[in-house]
Parts: sequence; structure tokens; C-alpha cells
Amino acid sequence: MRYISTRDTDEPPRYFTFVDAVLEGLAPDGGLLVPETFPSVSDSEWVLWKTLSYPALCAAVLRKFISPEEISDAELQTMIESAYSKLSGWRDDRIAPLSQVGAIQVLELFHGPTYAFKDVALQLLGQFFDFALRKRNTRMTILGATSGDTGSAAIAGVKGRSNIDCVILFPLGKTSKIQELQMTSNLEPNIHCLAVKDSVFDDCQSIVKSCFNDQVFNDEMNLGAVNSINWSRILAQVVYYVYAAARVDGPVSFVVPTGNFGNMLAGYYARKLGSAIPIKSLIIASNSNDILPKFFTSGNYTVTGHVVPTMSPSMDIAVSSNFERYLFDLWKRDPRIVAEKFEQLKTNKSFSVTQDELEKARCEFFSFAVDETKTLHTIAHVFDKNGYLLCPHSAVGYRAAEQFLVSPEFAGETVVTLATAHIGKFTENILNNLQDGGDDKLITAIANSVPSGLAKLREPGVKLRRTDIDNSMEAVKTYMRTHIGK
Ligand SMILES: *Cc1c(COP(=O)(O)O)cnc(C)c1O
Repeated sequence: MRYISTRDTDEPPRYFTFVDAVLEGLAPDGGLLVPETFPSVSDSEWVLWKTLSYPALCAAVLRKFISPEEISDAELQTMIESAYSKLSGWRDDRIAPLSQVGAIQVLELFHGPTYAFKDVALQLLGQFFDFALRKRNTRMTILGATSGDTGSAAIAGVKGRSNIDCVILFPLGKTSKIQELQMTSNLEPNIHCLAVKDSVFDDCQSIVKSCFNDQVFNDEMNLGAVNSINWSRILAQVVYYVYAAARVDGPVSFVVPTGNFGNMLAGYYARKLGSAIPIKSLIIASNSNDILPKFFTSGNYTVTGHVVPTMSPSMDIAVSSNFERYLFDLWKRDPRIVAEKFEQLKTNKSFSVTQDELEKARCEFFSFAVDETKTLHTIAHVFDKNGYLLCPHSAVGYRAAEQFLVSPEFAGETVVTLATAHIGKFTENILNNLQDGGDDKLITAIANSVPSGLAKLREPGVKLRRTDIDNSMEAVKTYMRTHIGK
């Protein structure tokens, strides 16, 4: 199995191995790495797959995308077992259990160490990094910016590893208290939490980008990225769609609370594995940051650069980076079109697709935007009817699922919506919005929803390690040169 860039116009293109894809993230031409050809699953394989445990199924899915010459069966199995073990912080050995909530099934992806679905991918990415670095006898420095969930999940994936340093930037005072504690309570010497003073997330992101673009510094530190453009993150997420499809009867449709489109893309790739796996509709659920629903309505992909803050901050994005991988398929895998359109996006902040392409895209995805009022209402009525608490991101998905099922064409279908985080991470967001008019029973339930693993971070005496740093690339570089690799 080889990988190619979505923007590589050379003939033949440059080929990447799976390990290259893990270590490099972005292709040198600015494109994203995708499999050269797409594997498929036969009917008889599917019969077997339906009986497998999560780790065994994960090995079977990954095997389709990684050559045995690169990673042997035994090596793959060891990495998967470590990534999804109790020791790594998983609280449910099904990893992705389904829960029936009213007419809709909820795929709970928040039973990992940091209580958000990003653990599913980042636990495995930590294993892959370690494997690749040992093989190449080298070390790396992970550098990332976070507005919340990615930072703690990345830290949980690599803490304590001797060949990786991990530097995470976040805007001081702008993440939720719990999210900050989830990062700064890690005292392992290879973890560095930098709270950037007087900054917003975009400042942190731009410092990170400048560091990556400084080739001398990049080589010196051997920088690595953990954002969701990394192919192995997408691959790890394909597994839970297949796992869920194996556990329901007949065809299943998936609803995905979407930001960067990484999670939804994994569902699309799961369906692309072939008709043996009965995955039907794929439904994108956005919050008020609705660049994708707008695309599916108009055929125009337009970046306003303006992000509306919501109760579901992990979906507050201006661009959906991973959408490029889907567009590559929509444009019949022609890298010239991808390169041209994304060049256009840089200058005009917008590009469009043809009417035929839009129609095809509309056959492949449904999309709904869910505003803050509907999100709150969904949290309240799902609790009232079913006694189940959804986090704001998951509520956006649940509401989109309800809207999908209203259509007579789809009524009665099996719909699985992804719950991407535990409500206990976002209680403050919801309670601040519920202030007036909230039902007492609901308010009490939300306040009591914080699991002990998160509550204990607030106890007095918890040791924290955090460095406050100036909002400048030079300050970050100086910190890294002083503290890393020593
Ligand atoms: C990251 C995140 C999302 C968005 O996922 P994408 O892959 O970026 O679309 C949704 N919900 C939560 C809780 C997240 O942390």
C-alpha cells in the first residue's frame, strides 16, 4: 500500500510509505496524503469481521492500508493492544459502545483517557510515532496548538516516551478550566504546556506554523504534527464505523458532529470499503460555523475567516482542512484540479464546483447546521425523555439525526450518531447558557455529570506544570532550544 499527495501533479507522482505518512503529515506540495488505490472488503471477510472484538477488528482494518513488510501482524497487534488498554486509560473495553437513546443510537467515543473521541486516534498515533522513531533510530518534537481537546489527547498519547518531546501551545485563559488542567497536570519531563499570554487560538496556531516553516529550526527539532490531517488519525477512526455497522441489524446511516471533517471523512472511507459493509447515508452536522452545509447548498466553498464562538468549541472552525481529501475523489482523483482550486482559495477565499459535481456530492452526504438554541433544546429534551446527557457537540449531531429522520423517505431507518465528548468536559459551557429558564432537574444532573477522573483534577494539592510565555515565535523557539533534547 502506497500513499500519494492530493496535489502532486508529477507523472508518476512521489510515493510515500505508511510510516512516511505518519511522520510527515502534510505532503511537501501542501496536499494531503491518501491511499494510491482503495482496498475493499469481501462478503466473506465481512462475516468474519462482524464477530471481532474492537482491537481485532482494528488490526483487520489497518492491515488493508499498511503493508506487512512495513509493520508485521505481531507488531501491529502489540501497538493496538497497548493503545486501547486499561493501562492507557480506557474505561470500557468495547472502546466504542452503542447506546439506544430514543429512536437514535449513540456511538459513545468518549471512554478514553481524556474523555473525547480524539483519544481513539491519538492513542494509536503515539504508538505509530514510537514505532517509526525506533525504526529510524531518531527522536522528534511534537509541536501543536490547541483550543482544547487535541492538546490533552496528544499529551495522553505520547507522555513518558523517551524519543518524543511534546510541546503544546494554548491561549492563556481561553480554554476551559478542565481542558487546561487535563494538559497541565501531566508532569512527565517530555511534556511542555506553554500558555501563550495575551493570545487567541489563531495566534498559537500561527506561531506553530511559522516554526514548521523555519526549515533550520524544523530540522534542528525534527518537528512532528498531531493535527487531524495526519493520515493515521483518519485511519484509526475508520475502525469505529465498521465496528458500529457490525453491531446493528441491516443498513446503517451515520451522523457526525463535524469541524475539520476528519471524523466524517473516516466514515466516508469506511463506506468506500465496499458494499459488503452496509453503510448507507452519511450526515454532516455543523454548529453555527457552517462552511460545509453552505457548500452542499450552493456548490461554493467560501472561507469567511470569521469564527463564531459556540458551546461546541471543538467544531468552531473557519476551514474544514480534511474536506480536500473528499474533493480529490469528487474531482476524479485529478491532482491538477485540487492544486488549482486550492490556489484559487488562497487568493479569492472561495472556489466552486460544477452542477454535476454538486449533485454527486449531495448524493454522498447530507448536511445540517444546528444553532445554539436548538443545541440547548436538544440537550434538555433528550435528558427529559431519555434521561441521557449529551455534550454540546454530540447534541448538534443528535439534533441533525432527528431532522434527517423527519423526512418520510428516511423515517424508521437505523441511524447512529457519534458522541464525540463526555458532557463532564463542557458543563460550564452549558450551565452558562442555561442560566435563565433551565429546568432544575437538568441543571442538577449536568452539575453532577463530571466523572471522578475529571473532578479529581480540581482537588487541592494536584501538582501542575505550565509555562506562561510571550505571544511571539522567538519566545517559543528560545524555550524549545533551552528545554528540549537536553
Ligand atoms: C475535534 C472534535 C470534533 C470535530 O471533529 P473533526 O474531525 O474536526 O470534524 C467534534 N467534537 C469534539 C468533542 C471534538 O473534540
